[in-house]
Amino acid sequence: MDIKTNLNNFNKKTENTHCKLVAVSKTYPPEEILKAWNLGQRMFGENKVQEMTEKWEVLPKDIQWHMIGHLQRNKVKYIAPYVHLIHSVDSLRLLKEINKEAFRNERIIDCLLQIHIAAEETKFGLSEEEAFSILNSDEFQTMGNVRITGLMGMATNTTNQEKIRGEFQFLRALFEKIKSAFSGNSRINITELSMGMSSDYEIAIEEGSTMIRIGSAIFGKRDYA
Ligand SMILES: *Cc1c(COP(=O)(O)O)cnc(C)c1O
Repeated sequence: MDIKTNLNNFNKKTENTHCKLVAVSKTYPPEEILKAWNLGQRMFGENKVQEMTEKWEVLPKDIQWHMIGHLQRNKVKYIAPYVHLIHSVDSLRLLKEINKEAFRNERIIDCLLQIHIAAEETKFGLSEEEAFSILNSDEFQTMGNVRITGLMGMATNTTNQEKIRGEFQFLRALFEKIKSAFSGNSRINITELSMGMSSDYEIAIEEGSTMIRIGSAIFGKRDYA
């Protein structure tokens, strides 16, 4: 299958839902991204700062770049001028750094809190308690240049569909809980639920995802992660 067929399929699958498509272009060269751009795709996801920045430099400026991978504090400055949404905020210290660099660039940067929902130890993310503690902190209240717009999560890499569904349901429930707990707070506007990848997006959409992050099912198999 080519990029055009794959993108059309995803556009069809999401057209009657509230779900947006982030095309995960990590490891693919700018030419492949341009093919998708020519077909109308504007939201792209990357997991490495240097790779995303190199692509941002050479590709059309109307692309919305989504940082979906683990982000180190010392690299925030490279993406702060242009990043559209950071999906992977997993500490107050990281959020503080994003706020500092957003201020320098005279921007407000939208962020999602990454929640640990998978069984695997290796996946990054916050617990429910940690997420509440960030949002309730006095320090967060002083950060004028970041806005929390939702949650992101990655389900366990398993063929057990019910396990994946259970993890997405947990994330959806937390999303609703945080949304109602912080309604009326100008720095917290919970609208986005980023969940679902090539292997599990169908379940994610059924469970209320507003953003699926699709790589290999659009661009083809990657040689490395
Ligand atoms: C690579 C990646 C994806 C996309 O994975 P595919 O299986 O290729 O769709 C989604 N989310 C994150 C955080 C990723 O790192």
